[in-house]
Amino acid sequence: MVQTVVCKKDGCSGNEFHIVTEDNQLKLTCKDCGNTYYYDVSYYEFVMLSSCKKCNNDTFKIFNNLEKQGIYAKCTKCGYPPEKVFIDDEGIQVTYEAKLMQDIKQLMYKIDQRICNLEMKVDGLEKGQELLEESLAYINRYMSE
Ligand SMILES: [Zn+2]
Ligand SMILES: [Zn+2]
Repeated sequence: MVQTVVCKKDGCSGNEFHIVTEDNQLKLTCKDCGNTYYYDVSYYEFVMLSSCKKCNNDTFKIFNNLEKQGIYAKCTKCGYPPEKVFIDDEGIQVTYEAKLMQDIKQLMYKIDQRICNLEMKVDGLEKGQELLEESLAYINRYMSE
């Protein structure tokens, strides 16, 4: 079930918020009355920035997916999510694209390693085969003498 987050202040019921990520928490500020709300977002590997990815607008509707325990935001003007950044292994902020590139590079490296291992195994098999043939040749010679 997805719930739209609505301001709980008496007489407000605003559903548009400014967002800021602070210490693994998403801070929502009601656009109408300025009331603030905090949501734990430490389970996300990325950080939501305060403005829309597409149109730079800074007010969002906030949705809470109760089953998946996920909170997400959509721009009130264009419906896009806010800009996201990832924190890489060294604690450095990188863009989504840079993070993707990093993941792809790591994947390529792993594939490379596997191919390398396979080649070594094939190499080992060939050597084994050679050794076997040599031994057989030796035995044959020994038997015929
Ligand atoms: Zn409000
Ligand atoms: Zn937008």
